[in-house]
Formats: sequence, C-alpha cells, structure tokens
Amino acid sequence: MDKRDILSLSFDELVTAMEECGEKKFRATQVYQWIWQKRVRSFDAMSNLSQKLREQLAEVFYFQTIKVSTAKKSTDGSCKFAFSLFDGNVVEGVLIPAKDRMTACISSQVGCGLQCAFCATGSLGFTRNLSVGEITDQFFVMDAAAKEDGGQGISNIVYMGMGEPLMNYKNVMSSIDRLTEEKGAGLAPSRITVSTSGIIRNIKQLADDGFSCNLAISLHAPKDMLRSQIMPINKTNPLAKLSDALAYYHEKTGDRITIEYVLLQGVNDSVQHARELAEFTKRFPVKINVIEYNPHEKAPYKKSDRQTLDAFVSFLKGLNLIVNVRFSKGKDIAAACGQLAAKQKRK
Ligand code: SAH
Ligand code: SF4
Repeated sequence: MDKRDILSLSFDELVTAMEECGEKKFRATQVYQWIWQKRVRSFDAMSNLSQKLREQLAEVFYFQTIKVSTAKKSTDGSCKFAFSLFDGNVVEGVLIPAKDRMTACISSQVGCGLQCAFCATGSLGFTRNLSVGEITDQFFVMDAAAKEDGGQGISNIVYMGMGEPLMNYKNVMSSIDRLTEEKGAGLAPSRITVSTSGIIRNIKQLADDGFSCNLAISLHAPKDMLRSQIMPINKTNPLAKLSDALAYYHEKTGDRITIEYVLLQGVNDSVQHARELAEFTKRFPVKINVIEYNPHEKAPYKKSDRQTLDAFVSFLKGLNLIVNVRFSKGKDIAAACGQLAAKQKRK
C-alpha cells in the first residue's frame, strides 16, 4: 500500500484513516493535536503514543513538508526564506514586520502558469501545486523563526508569494482550514488574505463556499486591452465578467474587496487610468492598494516616479475611496511578494 501524506488529511479523514488501521477516535485526536497544535513533523515526537503505534503510523503515513534552505534578512527588517521541497523544488516565503503586526507572505504553487508580464514568478512557468502541508508549514516555520527572534509571532498571512492560489483551490482552502480551525492553528480568518489574478469561476466558488478570509484582486489595469497585454489571464477572464463575479462575491459575503494595482511607469499610471479604475470599483465596496513596482531583470518595466504615484493616489482619494500605498519591502534581498524564487532556480 502506498503511504499517505498525513498533512493532507482533515480531522474527519484522519479519524477514518486511523480507524482503518484499527485505532480509536481519541488516538486520531491526539495525533491531530501533535500535528496542528504542537506542530511536530515526526511520529517519534508524539510521546503519548506507544512506541509500537508510532512505528505503525510511520509505515502508513508520511509528512509532505518543507525545509528551510536559506533565510536572508533585509536591512528594513523583512526576512526572505527559501524552502526546499521533497522533490528538489524551491518556493519562497517572506516575513514582513510592521508597527503592530507581523505578516507572512506564503506561496501556493511552484512557479505560476499565468505569465503576467511584470512578474518574476510568471517568468518561471508552472511546475506543480503545493500540497496542504507545504503551504501550512511555511507559516509554521516562519512563525517559529519570528518567535525565536523575540517577537510575538505571525499575526497576518497573505497568499501573495509564488503561484496563483485559486489555481490550487482545493489545497489552498484546506490549508486555510488547518490554519483557522480551533483544532488547528486557530487564526482568525480576518487575518488571512488570498490574492488572485482574477480566476472568475473560483471567485464565484469562494462566494458559494462561504469564504470568510479577505479577497484581494490583482487588477493592475482597468480596461481589457491593456489588462490582456500585461495579464494574459484577462483574455479568458475579462473585466466585465470579473466585475460580475466580484459583485456576486460581495452580495454573498458582504465583504469589502481589496484591489491591488501595481504602478508601471508609462503603462497604467495616468490619472485617466485612475479614473477608469474608480469606475471599475463602483459596483462593490473596495479598498485599493496602490503598489510600488519592484523592478527585476525578467521584465522591462520601471516603477512610476513619486509625482505620478501621488497624482494617481490623490485622484482616487478625491473620490473618497480608501487607498493605501504599499512601498516595496526587502528590495536588497529580492523579497517583495510576487518577486520570488527566480534567482534560486537559476543556480
Ligand atoms: N498570483 C496571485 C498572488 C501572487 S502575486 C496574484 O497575482 O494576485 C502577489 C501580488 O504581487 C500580485 O498583486 C502581483 O501582481 C504582484 N506583483 C507581481 N510582481 C510584482 C513586482 N515585481 N512588483 C510588485 N508587485 C508585483
Ligand atoms: Fe502568477 Fe500572480 Fe505572478 Fe501573475 S502576478 S504570474 S498570477 S504569481
């Protein structure tokens, strides 16, 4: 019999799997606690189980997890981790400290198949989806590191690392279950944000599934022609339909939607673009994050100058929209979310 990845199992699935091995439910409860609350990643560490049971479990299950290969601290306090996976692939995560919070940016896929023209991950192409444990354990490893550093640990998680989370829907949703459920890490859903380039079918699915975390849409262009040029996914998921999906999402969840907009010099950063962006957001309440572009050698774009950024932001604020500017972090270590792992792979 093939071994099963124990980190991919929900509590109910673990109960069933252990019952199939002749174990009672309370044993599954103990094992689940070891995994998701005490955060151990070997059966040897499960000290309230008999030696025999630990050996039996190790014959039936394995842990598909990650290892830190490098951790680099930036002069601005952010820290980039490269994680190696069992098959030699590498993904990255970033810890980003701010005044009253510590945000972890985590990856959902090895590479990404959507090829946005400005994105370093997009230039890698798609290799594979991450498993549930490969996603959750980025959080657990970085949380431990943040605490070792003398801090409170991670307060917020953003799915803004490598990959398109809604193209790995099932595992991403299971990872969120493990991170938020009481039997798991117990994080408040309001502290988790999933960022998507706009996979319409799965935005509707989120609404139908009662998604309770925050949703962020990488818009980056308010009109189809431009958006299709810089984000090929727009050709099959165009703005009118995206708008319908977001209106549906808001109707079902009642939630405000975050709109991400990276400013690319001379491409999408005029006041006219800001006007069109405001127009796009009329059907649902939004919070707009204007993001400073983090240039890299895989793409020809530059970040907009300060004056252009200010004019763009002032125009939106003048319409009473909620606007935040996100300046790039960890520039010296290539740590910006959405700018990950290209260097590692080249080695
Ligand atoms: N695939 C998802 C999540 C990962 S990318 C998505 O596209 O939303 C996370 C965010 O980083 C997205 O808004 C993405 O457009 C942005 N991004 C990508 N490359 C960037 C860069 N070089 N500088 C700044 N932001 C970038
Ligand atoms: Fe993929 Fe997001 Fe990068 Fe686009 S911006 S290529 S969807 S990771």
